[in-house]
Amino acid sequence: MLPYLSQYYFNHSSMHSFGGQVSKAVKTARKQVASLLGADISEIVFTSCGTEGDNAAIRAALLAQPNKRHIVTTEVEHPAVLNLCKQLEKQGYTVTYLSVNGQGQLDLDEVQASLTGNTALVSVMYANNETGVVFPIEQIGQMAKEYGALFHVDAVQAVGKIPLNMKTSTIDLLVLSGHKIHGPKGMGALYVRRGTKFRPLLVGGHQERGRRGGTENVAGIVALGKAAELAQQHLVHNVEQEKRLRDRLERGILETIADTVVNGHPTERLPNTTNIGFKYIEGEAILLLLDRYGICASSGSACTSGSLEPSHVLRAMGLPYSVLHGSIRFSLSRYTTEAEVDRVLEVVPGIIERLRALSPFNSDEAGWLQEQEQSLVTSN
Ligand code: PLP
Repeated sequence: MLPYLSQYYFNHSSMHSFGGQVSKAVKTARKQVASLLGADISEIVFTSCGTEGDNAAIRAALLAQPNKRHIVTTEVEHPAVLNLCKQLEKQGYTVTYLSVNGQGQLDLDEVQASLTGNTALVSVMYANNETGVVFPIEQIGQMAKEYGALFHVDAVQAVGKIPLNMKTSTIDLLVLSGHKIHGPKGMGALYVRRGTKFRPLLVGGHQERGRRGGTENVAGIVALGKAAELAQQHLVHNVEQEKRLRDRLERGILETIADTVVNGHPTERLPNTTNIGFKYIEGEAILLLLDRYGICASSGSACTSGSLEPSHVLRAMGLPYSVLHGSIRFSLSRYTTEAEVDRVLEVVPGIIERLRALSPFNSDEAGWLQEQEQSLVTSN
């Protein structure tokens, strides 16, 4: 990024030769992102983040089909999709929120039954950001096609971890975000299948072939391109290594700490994610203590943390109250080492023991817990 913030700070849309130098770098980045997705360079639109990509894709799909007023999505989408859908409901759209089972999976019969000739858009994430559970995207896309609906996929968590090829895919609109592939925060890209009717979310100049107005963030684009190139180069090796270390972490925790469960399907999952429920204690308390040891994990998604509401994803899975509140997510990357995993395994048992000793709810028999579970069921 640095040269594009200092030496080559020109506007790439300008006619002068300095702008031309920058244009080349933007073109290279577009090629790198397109290559990671198996797409054509003309199908890539740079955005400011994954949230913008999701909003742009969903709004464009609806504008392209003004006579259709139905959207199908899932209960476990990221707020970038869910909150927009809630807003669209207020504007007269009908939204079907598909449920998930206890392992976080969709029921394809429910997907099929939700579709009608009025369905403008099916919006389903590739992989869940809290549990890592991967959805059967191509089967869902096939169903969407049969009803003439556009298919949007929030692939923010999947890109760089699952090989993608838009040439053979049913996806019309796909979103990625820079910081999930070691690129910069505040950078993203949207794939728009050639031939898909598209109206920009940001209306302005003719940048990005008229699909996103606004002067491009050249340094961010260059960095996203490089990150995409590296993600593609390391994909196979990363997946193997991350999975091996993730499984080691998971096994270590389950074997040494009682009353722990893995949330989400055991195999239909991203290789780098594990969401573990430590019964009878608060996830936030675990995170605070982990932080003292320099260990970063999260409860829910970073975007909803702080709300103290249990995760909407784990609630949709119908997990019991005792697990809902004590669940945290560990995510590994290609830079995670064996020594780091061992350090987590060394530290976590002590933290859990300490918190459980303080917890009044240290068994499922606790009447209060049962009451809470009951009230959650009725409020759902
Ligand atoms: N979608 C998913 C699945 C995510 O995990 C995230 C971010 O964590 C987003 C969308 C939003 O991306 P951004 O933070 O770049 O707006």
